[in-house]
Amino acid sequence: MVIKDLLVEGVDLLKQNSNINPLFEAQVILSKLLNVDKSFLIAHEDLEVKKTIEDEYFKIIKNRKEGYPLQYLLGEVEFYGYKFKVREGVLIPRPDTEILVSFIIEYINQKKLTNYRLLEIGVGSGAIILSIAKSCPKGSLVGVDISETALDVAKENKKNLGISNVELIKSDLFEAFHSSTNDTTENFDIIVSNPPYIDREEMLNLQREVKYEPQIALFGGDDGLFYYKAISDEARYHLKNGGILAFEIGLKQGEKVKEILLNFGYRDISILKDFEQRDRVVVAYKD
Ligand code: GLN
Repeated sequence: MVIKDLLVEGVDLLKQNSNINPLFEAQVILSKLLNVDKSFLIAHEDLEVKKTIEDEYFKIIKNRKEGYPLQYLLGEVEFYGYKFKVREGVLIPRPDTEILVSFIIEYINQKKLTNYRLLEIGVGSGAIILSIAKSCPKGSLVGVDISETALDVAKENKKNLGISNVELIKSDLFEAFHSSTNDTTENFDIIVSNPPYIDREEMLNLQREVKYEPQIALFGGDDGLFYYKAISDEARYHLKNGGILAFEIGLKQGEKVKEILLNFGYRDISILKDFEQRDRVVVAYKD
């Protein structure tokens, strides 16, 4: 089949799912399989495509039509201008999370922090910690995750981005630090996390696409706030005085997370909004 016909048939299948932009996705899938950019497809629409690629193309298109995430099908996603590998078992980085990354990078630059120490709880694919390390290389960063799959993917991304100052270790929240020596306590300038924050009720109504993502990266307990409480509590013992704790939050969680932080003694708490004017990030200082 030639490129043009593949696109026409692909669009026809994809448009049966209203969450999909059919031409855009058919083009993305085909250009990835042919290893060319979109302009090539447009300029060579009469080019015959090998049967093996044609079969692979329709397999992907059909899975996508059923709601399987495009990012898993392609095995990668762009975040903060970098390419990150993703696969089933690891949360797909969201554009909204760039707000948290931008805030941290601005903070490090404004304060002219060099040799800063940053800890991320729950790195997933590594999108947050690796983007920060890329933009602010003069620091030493530690990222933890409980999921082996996430750590494998994050390590792959670290290698692909040529990063050497990020250490990635397996840990359930702060567990890995419990038995370590004093020099890992009260040692971080910044602790950051995009924890699972979806509450029980919302979990039942998740969009089709989110269903393919790991529950462990999404479910934040009955009220969605479990990890904010656990991390805010323990981070106090791992932050330097004057250090900051920054969270991504769900759109209705701003005031509740602020209250949790106040109860644990943090000060100067602020809530930042995303591009749709929804509460997205909470930042707090340790005295
Ligand atoms: N932002 C994700 C979503 O809405 C949730 C990620 C998380 O729980 N940290 O699907």
